Amino acid sequence: MIEILFLLLPLAFYSGWRAASKDNKKQCEASNKLTDDYVKGVNYLLSEKPDKALEVFINHPDVDEYTAETYLLLGNMFRNRGEVDRALCLHQNLMARSSLNKHQKALVMFALGEDYLSAGMLDRAERVFQELLEEKPKNIDVCLPLRRIYEQTNEWEKAIEATNCLKSRKISVVSKQLIAHYYCEMADQEMLQGNLHQVEKYIKKAEKTFKSSTRVKVLQADLLARQKYYKKSFRLYLNVLKQDSRLLSSLFDRVTKVAIQTGQNKVFSHALFELYAHDDSVLAYLLTLISHDGANHMPTQFLIEDLSQKKLNIYSINKAIETLQKTPDITSEGEKLSLIKQALDNYLKGKAGFQCQHCGYKMQDYLWHCPACYQWDVVSHT
Ligand SMILES: [Zn+2]
Repeated sequence: MIEILFLLLPLAFYSGWRAASKDNKKQCEASNKLTDDYVKGVNYLLSEKPDKALEVFINHPDVDEYTAETYLLLGNMFRNRGEVDRALCLHQNLMARSSLNKHQKALVMFALGEDYLSAGMLDRAERVFQELLEEKPKNIDVCLPLRRIYEQTNEWEKAIEATNCLKSRKISVVSKQLIAHYYCEMADQEMLQGNLHQVEKYIKKAEKTFKSSTRVKVLQADLLARQKYYKKSFRLYLNVLKQDSRLLSSLFDRVTKVAIQTGQNKVFSHALFELYAHDDSVLAYLLTLISHDGANHMPTQFLIEDLSQKKLNIYSINKAIETLQKTPDITSEGEKLSLIKQALDNYLKGKAGFQCQHCGYKMQDYLWHCPACYQWDVVSHT
């Protein structure tokens, strides 16, 4: 509602400006008509009747340079509220007005492009933004939405071009990271097609753009595995995991495969054990590897202490229980049960039992009224 009240500010300015030029009677009459329509339209908006408001604004015959910006803002407000049809209707109507100057036309075109983008009409949005770019090359405001479009359509070369257009403002680290991701996406596509030379080409380009990218290293390890250089691939995968253990969930199967190829399961499980010292979520993978291996070369005695003392995630607890079941000598059945109980107690400690379905706010106990968004009856179990 506050956003609608802001629309009244240009009205105040406009009325003041018009009142200052009272020497022309006709102009004053036109001003009154415009002011009446404007107030009528804003009133409809305030009474939550946007279609009627839209009708008033669209049917108003005179849109001049002073009111055009207000109409533009109104359309943007509709779009921000998720009412894209209304935004499109208003901006298209505004675009057809001959009274706009060149700068205002460009602003309305940009707003139209944003409307199309919000409506998922990517072809039209692209055409509008490309036209704006032709008129003013290196226009950063236009390059950003274009990049969003090409990311959605998987047109990575064009996404790179759109990101490079930001170079005029000294390309940032974030942009370099993005461009490296785009090259990696192209390398991924070529990998699926089995075009390994092309994969190599894109990896090199990505590496040149952003040397420290872990994604580039993952792709290099993938490529080495495809080329049957398993030992090199394995070493590189381990380096990547040391750099970022979060990648274990996506890399585990691949690393296990090359570890088996090179007979280095033991090396892999030791590497995971080292990672586990810093990242508890590694435990589930470590135990999976140990159970796959069958040789049971690694003692699982540490589980007793860790289950009772650490706050492990639910996947690790589940895997640990499975391991305990398979190793009868490790401890008695009664002790195993109390270990599981202790591990679950640790897991549940401080965990929110309820969550607001409206804003996502988490809480320990059930509340009728969400303390974050003040909605009623919106809390349920997490
Ligand atoms: Zn809430």
